[in-house]
Amino acid sequence: MEEKQDLKPVKIRELLQAGKRRLSEHEILDSEYDAKALLIYLLNCDMTGLFLRMEDEADGRLIQDYEALIDKRNSHYPLQYITGTQNFMGYDFHVNVGVLIPRQDTEILVEEALLTAGSMGNKPLRVLDLCTGSGCIGISYYLKRREAGLRDTVVLSDISAKALRIAKENAVSLSGTYDTDMEQDILFLESDLWNRLEEEKAEGFSLILSNPPYIRTGEIPELMPEVKDYEPITALDGEADGLSFYRRIAKDAPDFLKNGGYLILEIGYDQYEDVCGFLQNGGFSEIELRKDYAGLDRVIKARYCK
Ligand code: GLN
Repeated sequence: MEEKQDLKPVKIRELLQAGKRRLSEHEILDSEYDAKALLIYLLNCDMTGLFLRMEDEADGRLIQDYEALIDKRNSHYPLQYITGTQNFMGYDFHVNVGVLIPRQDTEILVEEALLTAGSMGNKPLRVLDLCTGSGCIGISYYLKRREAGLRDTVVLSDISAKALRIAKENAVSLSGTYDTDMEQDILFLESDLWNRLEEEKAEGFSLILSNPPYIRTGEIPELMPEVKDYEPITALDGEADGLSFYRRIAKDAPDFLKNGGYLILEIGYDQYEDVCGFLQNGGFSEIELRKDYAGLDRVIKARYCK
């Protein structure tokens, strides 16, 4: 499409087809989806808007910008870091290279948290989201509860100041009509797991949620280039056996849980038995497993009764 642009007009439809073709030549998995998403991003419209403009002529500027984005995506730079957004639980979360891109499977953790919170009576709870990253877990949990008329207090913590800035931005932009009192409800703490949460012990949490890094260090080079080359390594690396964070979480979570509170964790597909063992050693009971849409082990829930 490069040479043709001066010779004959290019329609949006043709631009899209060329984009899709170039992406598939570079082995970009979902080339059709990504080609559309990049065009939608540049045109600042939605899918319907794109379809309505298919027969319009693309101007030179659009062609140039689109080519630049296709080139960027061809380097396996993740789509979501280009468009700056990922939908999670129905909310558009802002993302950049400082945070892990929220995964659809993680919605299972939030659904489990909402069900668990619902089973604890119709009252506001104190909740902790450890390793919050973009804030997707804690913020979507908060918003769903808020939509149901409950104002929980949610603490979002992360080792990365950069991540917390994104989480804060997401909390502000997504809380929309609630923004006046949101600052009392959602709190941000820079902490390497528990080390800066000491003050939270006294009151404790009803729920502790976390999707910690859980990939074995040795397996990181085998991940897709989108993940291993661009997503933050600190959000992925669970050390040699991938279980380091679960050990630390299971050991100390009881000090931060209210009596009868729950710990809900995302896990890797082959980590259930190990994590279950850590939780039993930590004095947890009522351990339950939830599988993801692919039928793989994904979320573990456990209760702590003093
Ligand atoms: N809580 C965030 C998520 O689930 C980040 C997780 C992480 O950085 N390991 O997407």
